[in-house]
Amino acid sequence: MTLSLNLSPDCGNCFALCCTALGFARSADFAIDKPAASPCPNMADDFSCTIHQRLRPRGFRGCTVFDCFGAGQVVSQRTFSGTSWAQDPSSTSSMFAVFKVVRQLHEMLWYLAEAGQRTFDPDLAAAADHLSEAIAAAAQGDASTVLAADVETLHGEVRALLMEVSEEVRASYGAEDQQIPDGGLRAGADLMGANLADRRLCGSDLRGAYLIGANLRGSDLTAVDLLGTDLRGAQLHGADLTKALYLTQPQINAAEGDPTTLLPPQLTKPAHWG
Ligand code: SF4
Repeated sequence: MTLSLNLSPDCGNCFALCCTALGFARSADFAIDKPAASPCPNMADDFSCTIHQRLRPRGFRGCTVFDCFGAGQVVSQRTFSGTSWAQDPSSTSSMFAVFKVVRQLHEMLWYLAEAGQRTFDPDLAAAADHLSEAIAAAAQGDASTVLAADVETLHGEVRALLMEVSEEVRASYGAEDQQIPDGGLRAGADLMGANLADRRLCGSDLRGAYLIGANLRGSDLTAVDLLGTDLRGAQLHGADLTKALYLTQPQINAAEGDPTTLLPPQLTKPAHWG
């Protein structure tokens, strides 16, 4: 696949679109209410965050979890040619709307890149490539092209392909056998606070499962489908996630781990893991 898009955030080339376009509600993740389409009071005039080094102690844990999948710099520098919403206020609503769409498109590209690499089926790899090219073309278009993208249909196509690849990859790890004795190890399962330490979970389908605060210390999550799995506060110390399926940086940012946690090479250990 000849995808030239960088799917990792480059905040230095972004007009703080996540700190302006998006809203958040006062909660355990955010110390204040902030409506969408308004600058965060902690944002400096140069779009940097004045409390960047102290986000968690200041009550902004949510900011350390969020990841734009590289949408911010593309919208700032490519779609709007390096002219910020502060320089041209007439572009503000369009820029914020485009950012929200491009983030969704980039997230789909992230998943498709993994699906294309993990499948053993050349036809599925080609389908992932084909879909990625269409999505990348939409993401790199002008503002009207981005806003015209049929995100819902694309989501459906991506989801179907991801599931097909997941079934294929998990089958090679005996996913079916893994699930029979463990009724809880299934897509969408409520596993909040569950003790799954030192388990060989290989090939399980935990797509959309709730693993909030679950203990996964020392477990092997090879070929475990983690698409949309809620890993907030999950204990990943010593766990092996190097070949987990569809794991993203925001999921890792929301979890707890340490230097012994093994991650796929495209993900980084969050600063709060120490
Ligand atoms: S606290 Fe900092 S990172 Fe979070 S939204 Fe505000 S300016 Fe952005």
